[in-house]
Amino acid sequence: MNKKVILQNGKEQSLLRKHPWVFSGAIKSKDDAIQDGEIVDVFSVSNKYIGSGHYHNGSISVRLFSFENVEINSLFWKQKLVSAFQLRSIVGLANNKSTNAYRLIHGEGDGFPGLIIDIYNEVAIFQAHSIGMHLLKNTIAPLLIELFEGKLKAVFDKSKETLPANYSNTIKNDYIVGNIPDNNIVIENNCKFHVDWVGGQKTGFFVDQRENRKLLQSYSQNKTVLNTFCYTGGFSVFALQGGAKEVHSVDSSKKAIELTEKNILLNSTKENNFSEKHTAFVQDTFDYLKDKSNLYDVIILDPPAFAKHQNAKHNAINGYKRLNVEAISKIKSGGILFTFSCSQVIDRKIFYGTVASAAIETGRNIRVLHHLSQPADHPVNIYHPEGEYLKGLVLYVE
Ligand code: SAH
Repeated sequence: MNKKVILQNGKEQSLLRKHPWVFSGAIKSKDDAIQDGEIVDVFSVSNKYIGSGHYHNGSISVRLFSFENVEINSLFWKQKLVSAFQLRSIVGLANNKSTNAYRLIHGEGDGFPGLIIDIYNEVAIFQAHSIGMHLLKNTIAPLLIELFEGKLKAVFDKSKETLPANYSNTIKNDYIVGNIPDNNIVIENNCKFHVDWVGGQKTGFFVDQRENRKLLQSYSQNKTVLNTFCYTGGFSVFALQGGAKEVHSVDSSKKAIELTEKNILLNSTKENNFSEKHTAFVQDTFDYLKDKSNLYDVIILDPPAFAKHQNAKHNAINGYKRLNVEAISKIKSGGILFTFSCSQVIDRKIFYGTVASAAIETGRNIRVLHHLSQPADHPVNIYHPEGEYLKGLVLYVE
């Protein structure tokens, strides 16, 4: 029997619309001594079953993963994994010959609140953002191995940096199943990338920019391209693949620049000469851009989330504006700007407004060519719009 959480009168409404979060203020009473990460059943004040989820003593107190009163066992999780895998098959990512890096589980978007699983060829990276999901690692890892019918050799737990400190002190990042060399090479639209899931940021690679990198490729022929916040150089490789004349990559992290250079080399051949056409700089993007007027035909701005919380929103908007003013004022006439925000709290409308206000400040003529977002392996549960986080614009700057 799971412990019980009872809601205040009327507070079940959003849950009945399948929004999966119970905020602390919605709780009327609960059983004693519920541990963080424990599975609880949520009831309305009139004792109607609402759903089951993981409890955590915080502003989001319960993250629901079921709205049906069923037993939460291995079969329950297996069915959810199968459904997530089917979706990746439908969108053409499972068993794809030209791309073997993709997201299998995207939190609430796949009915696994607090969990991310990225697939890098023969390894799955399990990244829990809630204690409840982390406690399931030994249930989920073998199910993954089973699901991939021999194609998956290992499951690596990369949750230490994403869980609350008091809990994460007690764990370490490690293989749950199997063990394969760290520097695995994945392919994305036929380009190769080293992925360092042990030492790299997040799960090791940003699979969410796959479609946007492909689009950049189509704008790169004979262009001089600047890729800022380059991390592992994804956009740089696709710019070169698209026939760029010259590509410059900038990141403030030395490790990121090393990874970028490694990936350029990995895709470089005698015929394409990528290495010769590429230069990387360990530098702050704002500093780098200062004296770079009229040099670049294409600029990519893909900064880290400037706002991780609502209260950082104001500073974040200023940061995005400053960055976009810098790039828009420096880009060549007839230039193409790819500009992104991955801050969940900066929604599409605010981002557009911020970029528009940067444009006004520069006074240049600008047309919007594309509205970009996260790809289909990062699905948004329609009842949980908070799952949408990546937005981008492609601008034509005269
Ligand atoms: N575009 C990348 C992902 C970007 S992640 C891709 O397609 O894979 C954000 C990157 O910005 C990180 O590598 C981080 O090291 C870098 N970064 C953070 N602040 C920075 C700054 N002020 N200047 C330059 N790089 C920065």
